[in-house]
Amino acid sequence: MIVCKFGGTSVQDAEAMERVAAIVKQRIDQRPAVVASAMGKTTNGLLNAASLAADGKRQEALEVLSALKHHHLSEARKLGLAVPGDEVHETVTSHFKEMANIVRGLATLGELTPRSMDAMASYGERLSTLILCHCLTSRGIPAELKDARQFIITDDNFTRAAPLFDLTDSAIREHILPDINAGKVPVIQGFVGSTRKGITSTIGRGGSDYTAAIVGAALEAYDIQIWTDVDGIMTADPRVVPEARRVRVISFDEAAELAYFGARVLHPATILPAVRRKIPVHVLNSFKPDLEGTLITAEALPCANPVKSIACKKGITIVNIASTRMLMAHGFLRVIFEIFDRFRVPVDVVSTSEVSVSLTVDDTSSLWDIVTELKKVGEVSVEGGKAIVCCVGDNLRNTSGVLHLLASAVRDVNVLMISQGASAINVTFVIDEDQLGRCLRYLHDVFFQEVDPSIFD
Ligand code: ASP
Repeated sequence: MIVCKFGGTSVQDAEAMERVAAIVKQRIDQRPAVVASAMGKTTNGLLNAASLAADGKRQEALEVLSALKHHHLSEARKLGLAVPGDEVHETVTSHFKEMANIVRGLATLGELTPRSMDAMASYGERLSTLILCHCLTSRGIPAELKDARQFIITDDNFTRAAPLFDLTDSAIREHILPDINAGKVPVIQGFVGSTRKGITSTIGRGGSDYTAAIVGAALEAYDIQIWTDVDGIMTADPRVVPEARRVRVISFDEAAELAYFGARVLHPATILPAVRRKIPVHVLNSFKPDLEGTLITAEALPCANPVKSIACKKGITIVNIASTRMLMAHGFLRVIFEIFDRFRVPVDVVSTSEVSVSLTVDDTSSLWDIVTELKKVGEVSVEGGKAIVCCVGDNLRNTSGVLHLLASAVRDVNVLMISQGASAINVTFVIDEDQLGRCLRYLHDVFFQEVDPSIFD
């Protein structure tokens, strides 16, 4: 069996859902299970409605919901569904009634908890899969709507809940295998789960890829297909580097590095359940279903180029901490990282000298609290408007002279931090955000002047 996951743009409207039906139909002999995201930007809309309500803007929140309801019903109608009285119409209507009740509750309380955010956000996937399932059925595909909350069992860290694999894996098999064995196509909400007590949770923004990998791993699928709106993993962002090429094959480790550093294609955690079972993951474009996409494999294949892809992340802030007390002392780094840990802020790049530490964060929501704490340890300065550039390639570990190539490529770009060796397959550095475009184009020219045709398109 295979898992086909369709992202937000792949199910954004009636036309997109028709494309999904054609893709699933073509793969029916491979016994697909379908996982879908919410339609288009629905999740953002729902969370926006929730926060407007909690801010006392009840009417505005209800208007956001009403626009979303209109979109869902009108797209469903274009598919020949959602005629008053039919199941799609009734269920969509009742879901929006429930959401309006939540909005009223939030407006009364004036408070938005992670748990209420999850309750609200879950409707996005519940609506999209309802419509998609009926669309598939009406196009002759024996689809069966499943409720992910019955088998994606998570802890209660709402908005970023972690699946409890000992419960989840067996529950997936119990709920999904009978359908697959009966020749049906299960249609499953990505992103959504529930706690052991049955309270709706979500597994983090962009989490539908993760759901696909969890389901694929539990069912021992032989392929996981992530259908998106891009041609696959590219050598660089084609909006910045027009000459960017498609990477045909990439290893899990390389893809994970790229995902951490901003490649928009995959949720990094997607990688883990699939890696454990060595299940290949294909990244494909639902707008161009005949394109080969990118295959992500357990092991890297031999490649003549040292770098496979250059990722980047904007909106980075550097935090510098300097203290003469650090000289010859121990435990200094622990104190610093504990502060970031306390505020649950991830740190990306770190570089240290005898008396100072520089590190980067992209979440600045608690930055001033963090800085207040750090000031008890040393002198602190903060520099915003930075970007991380990350060159990834399995071959980097065997290639000498990479730093020389890199340095020549970024000749007139001011490199503020550099990290090499923490992972053998990436070299990461931090620059001013306004130099990013130029820097990426330079690097691309150097590393992809000639490409290995077995790996690049
Ligand atoms: N709909 C969710 C989000 O927008 C999950 C996903 O699309 O993967 O984050």
